[in-house]
Amino acid sequence: MMSTVGLAAKRSVLDADPGELEGWMAERGYRAYHARQVIRWIFERRADRFEVMSDLAKRLREALEAEWSLFATKVALHHVSPDGTDKLLLECPDGRRVECVLMAEDARRTVCVSTQVGCGMGCVFCASGLKGVERNLTRGEIVEQVVRLRNLLPEGERLTNLVVMGMGESLANLDNLIPALDRICSVEGLGMGQRRVTISTVGLPEKMRKLAAIDRQYNLAVSLHAPTEALRDKLVPINKKVGLRAVVDAADHYFRSSGRRVTFEYVLLRGINDGEGEAKALADLLEAKKAHANLIPYNPVEGLPFERPKAEAVRRFEAILRGRGVSVSIRKTKGREIDAACGQLRRRAETAEGVADPQDLVMAIGSPPS
Ligand code: SAH
Repeated sequence: MMSTVGLAAKRSVLDADPGELEGWMAERGYRAYHARQVIRWIFERRADRFEVMSDLAKRLREALEAEWSLFATKVALHHVSPDGTDKLLLECPDGRRVECVLMAEDARRTVCVSTQVGCGMGCVFCASGLKGVERNLTRGEIVEQVVRLRNLLPEGERLTNLVVMGMGESLANLDNLIPALDRICSVEGLGMGQRRVTISTVGLPEKMRKLAAIDRQYNLAVSLHAPTEALRDKLVPINKKVGLRAVVDAADHYFRSSGRRVTFEYVLLRGINDGEGEAKALADLLEAKKAHANLIPYNPVEGLPFERPKAEAVRRFEAILRGRGVSVSIRKTKGREIDAACGQLRRRAETAEGVADPQDLVMAIGSPPS
């Protein structure tokens, strides 16, 4: 046992409670404001090492270095796609890997983050859940994805939006997700507006109500994927336990209590849920609501039997919803070349391990470009 002590990973300062680092400073005779300086260096000045925090005493920087890590993860892969999408595969201290994405479009700079290693929901078409859930990410590991991606932006550019749509079921890790988002949205963090943040969930009614009760302005997106109980049971196995009605009721509750219009996500799978019948049934479900439908043409996953819908089916599906007065949009696929859909990069990196095709792995580096 003793021998493993020295190998234990240092805790990341991004995992610490706001008061915790101050306490650590105080115990060592340093003033509390140094803790705020450290945080400012990371969030404002993009420091990725304690060493560069030049207004802290060298001794303090060394003490920090000895007991804390700044980022807990390493960049295992950095993929860049021609459409301006960056994807990072981050390796946690326990060797587990998670992915996160930065998308640039017009004035928008959107990051997409993961909340768990793997996923326990088992949606049949999704790459993230193929091997189940391994663990929740810590608060710091969630914050770190955002900060690392922000650090890829040219100096002076800011992130404008954050979507929690990476690997994992976001609301299954609500206890770490909320402090992470709160930090990102705080003035001491990145100062992002809560209304610029969207949390996507498979639809866990109790957690959706809990989220409504904590009184934030985060947007909620619910992965519906089917307008009927029978079809949803097939595509989203957790639905057998939860039920479509309970998901929709909890979404209505979220809208009533937060005033934030809920988005219903709908992955279009060719020949499975992309027909006229499903579009009409979805319109029945949504037309009376002040909700939004986001249609997501399926991004094929190697080894899974699902296909992208025909362009014509997507157009027809959208037209039916629109014709019934439902607010609807089609999600643009960004970063398809770099497997920018949940769990796809990690999976590809695992299957390609050791035989990395340079075409496929655009850039493999040990630390983010400065
Ligand atoms: N667990 C959360 C976050 C998942 S990722 C949730 O279920 O919402 C965000 C969205 O991408 C979900 O709607 C998910 O079902 C969808 N998705 C997963 N794999 C996909 C794929 N291969 N192509 C398109 N969308 C996918």
